[in-house]
Amino acid sequence: MSKLIFETGKPGRRCACLPASDVPEVAIPPQLMRTKPARLPETAEVDLVRHYTNLSRKAFGVDNGFYPLGSCTMKYNPKRNEEVAALKGFTGVHPLQGEETTQGCLKLMHTLAERICGITGMDAVTLQPAAGAHGEMTGLALIKAYLTDRGETERIKLIVPDSAHGTNPASAAMAGFTIVNIPSNPQGLVDVQALESVVGDDTAALMLTNPNTLGLFERDIEKIADIVHSAGGLLYYDGANMNAIMGISRPGDMGFDVMHLNLHKTFSTPHGGGGPGSGPVACKEFLRPFLPSPLVAEKDGIYSFENPEKSIGRVRSFYGNFLVNVRALAYIMTLGAKGLRESSENAVLNANYMMENLKDTYNVAFDTPCMHEFVITLEPLKKQNGVTAADIAKGLVDKGIHPPTMYFPLIVPEALMIEPTETESRETLDEAVEAFKEIYAAALENPGELHRAPVTTPVGRPDETTAVRNPVLRYEFPSED
Ligand SMILES: *Cc1c(COP(=O)(O)O)cnc(C)c1O
Repeated sequence: MSKLIFETGKPGRRCACLPASDVPEVAIPPQLMRTKPARLPETAEVDLVRHYTNLSRKAFGVDNGFYPLGSCTMKYNPKRNEEVAALKGFTGVHPLQGEETTQGCLKLMHTLAERICGITGMDAVTLQPAAGAHGEMTGLALIKAYLTDRGETERIKLIVPDSAHGTNPASAAMAGFTIVNIPSNPQGLVDVQALESVVGDDTAALMLTNPNTLGLFERDIEKIADIVHSAGGLLYYDGANMNAIMGISRPGDMGFDVMHLNLHKTFSTPHGGGGPGSGPVACKEFLRPFLPSPLVAEKDGIYSFENPEKSIGRVRSFYGNFLVNVRALAYIMTLGAKGLRESSENAVLNANYMMENLKDTYNVAFDTPCMHEFVITLEPLKKQNGVTAADIAKGLVDKGIHPPTMYFPLIVPEALMIEPTETESRETLDEAVEAFKEIYAAALENPGELHRAPVTTPVGRPDETTAVRNPVLRYEFPSED
């Protein structure tokens, strides 16, 4: 394994030539001074460059290879959107600058909100939430504020299907709701009868993603919306899966009242390194008064901030992750309505192409045409010779493919969830299918070998319990003096 930055270099070695100070020296109060010099790495520029270059090579990103991580939409992010987000006018602006000097940025936010309304079939948008889960919490807070405003405080139950993304019940709990789980039917869709049996005077909302996390479209969505609305509840749409439906169907038309989008999944912001992301919340007109403040309004070509009358307040400092919004608008305007639709069509086509080509080898959990992703189960193989979903996933690492999502959704045992995305070529998909098949053959022939994969990475299989309970995240100096 290569050395850590603390282990390279020598005392006194440097890689910076600082200019002479052009401000007077000021004595730092002694109580603020260190008693010992900080133990910083001391290296030459060449060693520093090699350190970071080598680190970057160990990381796997969508710019390195195929990354079919289901439910995460790890698609390629066009570099032109990075260039647009790096323009001085966007990076040099200060969030406390007045409205008069930031008209361009305000126009961008206003235009993005309008485009989001067009794509989702909603009427109003806040760009503040910093990620999907944050958007969920914000959207649920809107529902809560709306119900409270109407005096319907007995509506405390939030219905969540068992196939939901883990953030859904977590956000519902954080927003102060009681969660009611409903099972999926054998086809992997919402069990409409089960839904009917749980709705009532205490229903606040149903939280749903469509296509759901099995990659299946809820065909009964209008009936589902009717059931919930007739009981006086609202519908929340988890919009992280917009990649399958852009320009084809709209949550607002399906009957949803409020939703979030993951700009860092569908709309061209690199993610996987942990952010920054953006999870705008879009809602129908009747929820607009409750949106976080401020919103951007336009009158006679002049943009200004306005505070919705019954606003739930701020959910984040300033205006959200503005540069993510820049990338999203660049992406939307570059593709246009036709291009957005085409990317969704290709996302669905690619997923079905892979599923069809794998289905003779692997067990597909629900054997119907999928949307942007599909789920396979390794349960039969595990029973046959002990090779698990994790073993297959680790085997893919050695073939230069990022593992699919593992053990999710929870209702499929030994699940692997595959989302190829629209940005992959047919050749890449063919190579990936070949790799999946080779691993399956290896699993039948020599299961023991797969238990040891990956063998090409700096770390193979850490003890997962120790890695979680006792992670070593800090460099420990050889002597602590
Ligand atoms: C990714 C995802 C989320 C959470 O989004 P974050 O930005 O990671 O908080 C929620 N729901 C679904 C269906 C997702 O795929």
